[in-house]
Amino acid sequence: MILVLFGPPGSGKGTQSDLLRNSGHFVHISTGDLLRNEVAEGTEIGGIVKDIMSHGEFPSDDIIMSLIEKQLDLHEGEQIICDGFPRTMNQVLAFNTLLSVKRENVGLVVNLNVDLSQLIERISGRYSCKECGAVYHDTNKRPLKDGACDRCGGLEFVRRTDDQPDVLKNRVRTYLDQTQAVCDYYRQKGLVKDLDASKDPVSVNNDLKSCLTQAGFII
Ligand code: AMP
Repeated sequence: MILVLFGPPGSGKGTQSDLLRNSGHFVHISTGDLLRNEVAEGTEIGGIVKDIMSHGEFPSDDIIMSLIEKQLDLHEGEQIICDGFPRTMNQVLAFNTLLSVKRENVGLVVNLNVDLSQLIERISGRYSCKECGAVYHDTNKRPLKDGACDRCGGLEFVRRTDDQPDVLKNRVRTYLDQTQAVCDYYRQKGLVKDLDASKDPVSVNNDLKSCLTQAGFII
């Protein structure tokens, strides 16, 4: 069964996915992470999407679907968190086709709500471990030992080029423009739960787990 996590950049999709993944019952698929890996590895897809992503725009739906199809093949029958996907109606329709072939379904869509000023505050201090990708924040979430990653001990950290405030505003605008229709589509199907994601991550996670249990997921 699939959980779709919706929310603008900085709403906590990655943090909530990490907390759920710790239970061992979920696989996390983030199209943003998949695309960044392609760029880091210098693949053909990476070369195509690099500039598009650095401006906060969306790469083509065909590229996104090719990455998702590979992941669905790898994780057949598992509980999957889709983070940042689907983001356009074309992706929804292509996803429906893929899922029906695999006899899978979207069991819940969670919409994480946070206002823009809080998003900017969260994102402008964000950085991650170069080695394992664990995410930290200048004020809200520093590593336990300064300068070393809690998860893997890595000593090098990076900031995303698309986390600059002006690019971020474009990402939020693009997100809202493109994804409103997607959210409406799932809402009409009765699958959407709205959560207040301005709360602390553990409270949001507790709310999320209640929704998942009600929807029949194993947590
Ligand atoms: P994220 O890590 O989810 O904030 O995504 C970072 C960037 O990757 C976005 O601003 C888009 O450029 C691109 N991206 C991620 N997921 C998708 C998607 N499903 N469709 C189109 N573009 C995406």
